[in-house]
Amino acid sequence: AGKKVQWDPAQMRKIQEHPCFSEKACHTFGRCHIPVAPKCNIQCNYCIRDFDCVNESRPGVTTKVLNPEEAMEMIGKVVKKYDYIKVVGIAGPGDPLANEETFETLKRLHEKYPGVIKCISTNGLLLPDKIDLLQKYDVGNITVTLNAIDPEIGAKIYQFIDYNGKRYTGIEAAKLLLSQQLKGIEMAVERNMIVKVNTVYIPGINEDHIVDIAKKVGGMGVYTFNIIPLIAQYKFADIAPPTPEMKKKMQDACSQYVKQMRHCQRCRADAIGKLGHDVQSCMYENK
Ligand code: SF4
Ligand code: SF4
Repeated sequence: AGKKVQWDPAQMRKIQEHPCFSEKACHTFGRCHIPVAPKCNIQCNYCIRDFDCVNESRPGVTTKVLNPEEAMEMIGKVVKKYDYIKVVGIAGPGDPLANEETFETLKRLHEKYPGVIKCISTNGLLLPDKIDLLQKYDVGNITVTLNAIDPEIGAKIYQFIDYNGKRYTGIEAAKLLLSQQLKGIEMAVERNMIVKVNTVYIPGINEDHIVDIAKKVGGMGVYTFNIIPLIAQYKFADIAPPTPEMKKKMQDACSQYVKQMRHCQRCRADAIGKLGHDVQSCMYENK
């Protein structure tokens, strides 16, 4: 499925030792999410602020935010205690690229732990603007949440976006977000980053469109596609989320275009450990 890409050994490692990018790796290796990014630059209709971003996590669970120094301290403890943790990711609780602390943490991480696989997840709005910085700090794995490739549909999902000091709404917002997301994905693939696309499955809003998204991103060289069932809240509180059967059917339909991630655990922005076997509570208690 998808566009065939030749991986070099460094890229292979970023797939094989990352529990989200390789289903096999998820039994052996873990990841550590560092919650250094509280702010967000868009408003999704399924998101209540102050909770973890759905880009990579389960909304409704608050996360203690760490500053870069506390984050480095935490990473130091984690890599010492759990040698199977090979990946440090920044996934929120807001949008990583909208927070300077993300880049400060990545810079320090790159200097102190060059061997650790670095990963971020984003709504994509700032991806083209920040891609060179991400490359400089050797961020090899990028997840973009892309819920529509048609701005008419996007306009139903996003209330507003804030870009370069200006607030955009409606179709204008959806168009700008989409163009940034597609440009960002293209630039990440060009830079040999391993790209995952997350799509929130929102019945009645984007469900007839998800296969088109899979087709588009598969053709762009995206490595894997992760369908996330809606958690019904905020403006979408009245929408019934897709059942596991609906999700599986959608994954099967998309699988001819791009490899499907079927083992996502919807982790918190402060998750630490193997997928589904988190140890973060004990790490935070020890702080
Ligand atoms: Fe919420 Fe994440 Fe959407 Fe921002 S990108 S509004 S934090 S779900
Ligand atoms: Fe991996 Fe899914 Fe957890 Fe993200 S939310 S770390 S993709 S399992």
